[in-house]
Amino acid sequence: MPPAPIHRTPRHASHPRGRYAPSPTGLIHLGNARTALAAWLSIRSRGGTFLWRLEDLDPPRVVPGMAALQMEDLAWLGLDWDEGPDLGGPCAPYEQSRRSALYEDALDRLATAGRLFPCRRSRKDLASIASAPHGLDGGAPYPASFRPASLDPGWLEALRRMERPDAALRFRVDDRPVLWHDRVFGAREERVDRTVGDFVLKRRDGLYAYQLAVVVDDLAMGIDEVVRGADLLDSTARQIQLYEALGGTPPDWAHVPVVVNAAGEKLSKRDGGRTLRALRDSGVHPEAVVGELAASLGLLDRPDPCRPGDLVRDFTWEKVKKEPSVMP
Ligand code: GLU
Repeated sequence: MPPAPIHRTPRHASHPRGRYAPSPTGLIHLGNARTALAAWLSIRSRGGTFLWRLEDLDPPRVVPGMAALQMEDLAWLGLDWDEGPDLGGPCAPYEQSRRSALYEDALDRLATAGRLFPCRRSRKDLASIASAPHGLDGGAPYPASFRPASLDPGWLEALRRMERPDAALRFRVDDRPVLWHDRVFGAREERVDRTVGDFVLKRRDGLYAYQLAVVVDDLAMGIDEVVRGADLLDSTARQIQLYEALGGTPPDWAHVPVVVNAAGEKLSKRDGGRTLRALRDSGVHPEAVVGELAASLGLLDRPDPCRPGDLVRDFTWEKVKKEPSVMP
């Protein structure tokens, strides 16, 4: 039986759809809030729809109750959304943990197209390819010589029937350069076969990889623009290859520079005092936070307190700075 097509929300240039897609693993800090503000402004300035998607695919990292706190904190800041786990909407469910059927559909399509293969190589096998140049993930790119020479037509079904498949599923990448444009970082180019090689879409333990879920969901939810932290710039070329293999058109991309602490490190959970919740609990006004974030993005000359809605009219990506912002 041919695989079922992925449900797609049609895209309309006159009504763009954007999203904020946090993993519910920690409280929203200033860096996350800044990215969310930019994503929200970009969509609101074009009169589009903004949705919240819960990226809760990694059970050990998910903190129970965190998604509700994240929503509360961004609502406190003055952001809103039109669809999401709390509101529902035409693309429900908005929780990735409830969307496995779509990810399996996509794997079927990729297998049919010859772009998927099972991999039983151990970490040791992969570490042993020492002479290769080191790729983005620190290790050497997955070598094309590790691809199976041939696969039976029903291999994926047979694997699903096994009690312990004990194989990861990898995407067979193209050996062409991926060229794309980022609204903040400009023209980009990457040879995925040289940086990461064939990457994992479903892990050996059965968890779906972020790369697969994000592309399947952005396609199914009709997302026109992806705005996210610059720490994900390196994932974009991989995702573009996946869009193309699934017969979809990639969205527009904008990567928002990260926020660093006084030591020059990306804000993380360790910077507890830089969470919206800590600021709110210490009596800081949301307008003061929005003013700081907007100034640090390059949207205001001075950090004058304001509401997100005050920034919609004058928002343009040209103003957004490329440099990481220091928030001591
Ligand atoms: N879930 C990812 C994060 O929390 C964001 C994924 C995306 O926007 O593509 O960093």
